[in-house]
Amino acid sequence: MHTDPHVRDKTINLLHGAGGELMNALIADVLTRITNKNAGGIGLESLDDGAAIPLTHGGYLVLTTDTHVVKPIFFPGGDIGRIAVSGTVNDLAMMGAAPVALTSAIVLEDGFSMDALRVIIASMDAATKEVDAAIVTGDTKVVEKGALDQVIINTAGIGFVEKPVRDCGLRPGDKLIVTGTVGDHGIAVLAKREDFKFRTELRSDVAPIWRTIKAALDAAKPDGITAMKDPTRGGVASALNEMARKSGVEIVINEEAIPINPAIRAAAEMLGIDVLAVANEGKALIGVQAEHAKRVLAAIKGTPYGRDAAVIGEVTDGERVLLRTAIGGTRFIDAPLGDPVPRVC
Ligand code: MG
Repeated sequence: MHTDPHVRDKTINLLHGAGGELMNALIADVLTRITNKNAGGIGLESLDDGAAIPLTHGGYLVLTTDTHVVKPIFFPGGDIGRIAVSGTVNDLAMMGAAPVALTSAIVLEDGFSMDALRVIIASMDAATKEVDAAIVTGDTKVVEKGALDQVIINTAGIGFVEKPVRDCGLRPGDKLIVTGTVGDHGIAVLAKREDFKFRTELRSDVAPIWRTIKAALDAAKPDGITAMKDPTRGGVASALNEMARKSGVEIVINEEAIPINPAIRAAAEMLGIDVLAVANEGKALIGVQAEHAKRVLAAIKGTPYGRDAAVIGEVTDGERVLLRTAIGGTRFIDAPLGDPVPRVC
């Protein structure tokens, strides 16, 4: 862990928000210096996808929040509104919770286009409808021109679950599934931002994937799913390292098994960016007990956002994340210092 760099930093920089080791250090050394972190369930101390608060009559209320600063605000495959809902729905889903209600807090810059705002709201509405949730309360602020870059959206969400799924529950012998192609969002947003032209349009994967996750949970009842995490900022590399570290296991990934859209792979190679280190906004990494793996994979593949799902590796004793390369070698996948694409969500 690189706990040193930011302790010496006197000011915040973009990497502190880029979902990698530098952000982890900021969280550990500054942001979680809070006394009451937990309401008897899973709280801030766990740094999971959300918090889980035990209910008096059984089960848990899951709560999560996310602020969205993606640049540009419109990109192929989505916009800031779709991300704002999907990010929160997916964090609830990663804890096994059915999304129920969301809040929406929007900060706008003076001069922001009314038409653009209508499009963003329609997009939030459509994404919420996909998972039968509701946006139930909100807040709107406007700041003077130049005080922020167009628009920032915060959403919070609640959902309910009988027993939360953690990101730290992997056990040796488990299989690891990814619910679809990797790297689409980060590469698509970067290409749009920098106006790079490729032969094929690169599209973000941003989507609320609760239905895909529910299919996986149902196929492995009651507790064949051992861990889940959405590989957002810092990508698959960051998420796998976090899961391995928290679970106290080693994860071995087969490079050839990782689904990657050929156009995204080509663009990433051309841009010199590691496709495993960039954000996904409609994907999950799922640990599953081996005897359930086949059934869970089939269930995921039967959902619209899970068609390209694959078993990409397995869990063993040890630590770290190991990649078995296509040519038969092995190398470690380290957690990136930060996502190579800043302001990606
Ligand atoms: Mg998450």
